Order: sequence, then structure tokens, then C-alpha cells
Amino acid sequence: MNDKHPPERLSAFDMVNRLFDRAADLLGLSEEKRTELKTPYREMMVRLPLRTEAGEQKVYKGYRVQHDNSRGPMKGGIRYHPDADLDEVRALAALMSWKTAVVNLPYGGAKGGIQCDPEELSDLDLERLTRRFAHRLEGFIGDHEDIPGPDMGTDARVMAWMMDEYSKFHGFTPGVVTGKPLELGGSEGRLSATGRGLFFAVERIAPEIGLDLDGARVAVQGFGNVGYWAARFLADACCRIVAVSDVHGTIVHADGFDVEELNRVREETGSITNIDLAGMETLHRDELIAQPADILVPAALGSTIHEHNAHRVNCRLIAEGANHPTTPDADRILADNGVTVLPDIYANAGGVTVSYFEWVQNLQQMRWDAERVDRELRQVMHDAYDDLKAAADEFDTDLRTAAFLVAIRRVAGAAQLRGMH
Ligand code: NAD
Repeated sequence: MNDKHPPERLSAFDMVNRLFDRAADLLGLSEEKRTELKTPYREMMVRLPLRTEAGEQKVYKGYRVQHDNSRGPMKGGIRYHPDADLDEVRALAALMSWKTAVVNLPYGGAKGGIQCDPEELSDLDLERLTRRFAHRLEGFIGDHEDIPGPDMGTDARVMAWMMDEYSKFHGFTPGVVTGKPLELGGSEGRLSATGRGLFFAVERIAPEIGLDLDGARVAVQGFGNVGYWAARFLADACCRIVAVSDVHGTIVHADGFDVEELNRVREETGSITNIDLAGMETLHRDELIAQPADILVPAALGSTIHEHNAHRVNCRLIAEGANHPTTPDADRILADNGVTVLPDIYANAGGVTVSYFEWVQNLQQMRWDAERVDRELRQVMHDAYDDLKAAADEFDTDLRTAAFLVAIRRVAGAAQLRGMH
């Protein structure tokens, strides 16, 4: 059975602001302060003409929204996707401000993108388009201003081109972007960082909710970068990965899957659903969330848990790997059903945290080993959980609202101290 109902129609930016307002109400924030904190610092749309290798003349649109810089330089990814538009980029930029504040990194938030299908571009076209975009943004980004990183459709190679283009104007500046190849100042542990951070969040909360990870059943929605690494670290902690989905379908096995085998099948065939295992069941992709599990990890798209399917969620803990996978209405249903949610702006902050470590290494012209990256990441995730829990207890609220409470207090406090900056 598929989900017959579309999720509620709320723009991504409205959705973020609804969550913001819930916490702002508890803090008694004035309308003026709310308007100030919600309004982006700067928004850019740039025209990107490209003469393709095949001789076609095309024009793309590029965006960069810089949401807030009260606590430090702005930080956020660049996505190359046909649906990238101003509303989405604006919402994700705001989420980055709240996310960096939740884990207490000395950053603000930004996000950018080019409305394009990177699959349709040759390598040379991709490089030209990236360089043109970096050229347009060159006066507005910088290692103490705004630091892009990779996101959907972009990777270490794209970051290397951006850094190179920026460096033509400003001298060798590895700290202007993160997610670079190791040879150009990238950090150990960046690729696995979001999944690893999510695991540290689960590891921290598990004893508090009486959840024993040894043998705990896990369902993972989406088996890309975040889903794969989260599954792998959870499996290493003796969890059983009993259900996994990707865009092609859901696979279920009560004994649990071998995560490395799933990864091999995905790499060789393009989908985990091609694994051939006795006793395995194959279902529609939307059935993943309804599989009985102790922990559900949404690691695919936004709004996959919504008001029409939230009642089918059959787990104790949701650890949000994706950005805004749960709509506000679904949140209420989950709370009524006693499901604990580790919210996206905390649970998936491992990626930006290791980006921060990369930037620190670049500024200091030093290298950390993988063991140090992991140790520092665990500390950041555990400390942030303690801050969330304290706010949740203080205001008698859920962890998502608590995350916004912590973030808004930090950003509003810094803005106040800086005056009208
Ligand atoms: P990815 O492209 O590597 O993987 C996405 C996975 O989701 C793929 O397996 C795809 O098949 C699957 N998928 C797509 N639509 C689906 C559907 N309807 N049902 C089930 N599966 C579906 O992406 P990623 O980098 O792993 O990112 C996943 C999510 O995590 C995104 O929301 C992203 O914004 C968020 N996120 C990523 C990072 C990071 O460091 N990569 C950091 C923070 C947040």
C-alpha cells in the first residue's frame, strides 16, 4: 500500500518558521525580534550563462542566501538540483543558523544552489558552471565571511574548483570552502561525519529512554551517504538493521542485513533492493516508516513523515538524518504516540561539525588524525544533547522545540551584544 495523500502544503521556509515560532512563544520573544531573526541578512540570485561542450547556449540560476552572521561567518552547503529555488535555499539557510547554534559552533547560517541537473552536464560543463558561480559569489564569500560546502549534487571535486576560483582573487585560501579533497586541506572523517554524529546522538540518548542498543531493531529510510554511514555505525554497536529503503523500494529482514553487503549491492547495481537474501521481503518504498523497529532513521528527503502517515510509525525513537523529514503536524501525532524525536538540527549536525574541524585545521595549517576528529565530534554531540535536555526540562517541551530554544537564545544573545551590526 502506498501513501495516497500528499503531505500538507507548507513552503519549506514557512515550516522552519513555524518551528521557530513555537520556541519563540515559550521565550516570549517580541515581534520585532522575531522579524529580525527570521529575515535573511542577504539574498543573492545570479545569472549563469554557459556555452556547453556540445555547443549549446544555456542560462542557469544560482542562489546564495546568507541568513545570519551574529555568531560567526556563515556556513552552509551548495546544492545542484533541478528543484533548487529561492524558497528552499532560504529555508535551508535559516536551518543552518539554528543548526550551528544548537551544536555551539562559532558560525552563522547560509545555503546556496544552482537550479540544474548535474547528471546532464559533462565534467567540463560542470567545472565551467561552478567556476562562474564562484566568480559571481567571490566578493561575498570568504573564510571569515561565508564558507560554502558540498550538498546534494555537489562533491569534493566541485569544492576544489570553487576554492581554486576564489584563490585566483584572494591568494591560496583553503578555508573558503569545506568538504575539499584531503590533498587540498579536506579533513579526515568528513564523508562519514553526518552518520557518525547521528550515531553519537543515539548513543547518548539511548540509556535515558531505557533503550539497549545491543540487538535494537533499526529501520533506515534512504541508503545514501547519511543512511549508509548511520546504519554502519549502528550495526557496529550491535543494532540489527531490519528494514532499509531507497528510491526503488523497501527491503525487510527480521534477522537484520549486513550493511557492507547492502553497500556492495548498491554500488554494483544502483539499488539495495537488488540484494538476494532468503527470508527477505520487498515492499513499496513508502512502507519503510511502518516497519516495527526500535529506532527509525529518516535519511532521504524532507516531509516523508507527514500528517497522513505519522500514525503508522512503529518505533520508539526517530533520529532525523534528513533535513526536515517530519512535518509539524506529524510531530504532534508522534508526540501523542510517545515517540521520541532527535531533531534534524541536532541529529544531523555531525556533517557541519566536521566541516568546522576542517576549517579550523585550514586556518591553523594543521592536520588532525581520524581518531581526534571522532573524539571531538563525540564530545560536541554529547554536550549539545545535554544543552537540549536541559532546555526541554526547563520548558517542559519536546527535543525539537528545545533545540530551537537553545539556538534562538544563542543567536539572539549574540545579536544583542553586537548591537545593530
Ligand atoms: P544521498 O543522495 O546520498 O542519498 C539519498 C538516499 O535517499 C538515496 O539512497 C535515495 O535512493 C534515497 N531516496 C530518495 N527518495 C526516496 C524516497 N522517497 N524513499 C526512500 N528513499 C529515497 O543523500 P544524503 O547526502 O545521504 O542526504 C540525505 C538527507 O540528509 C538529505 O535530506 C540531506 O539534506 C540530509 N543531510 C545530509 C548531510 C550530508 O552530510 N550528506 C548532512 C545533513 C543533512
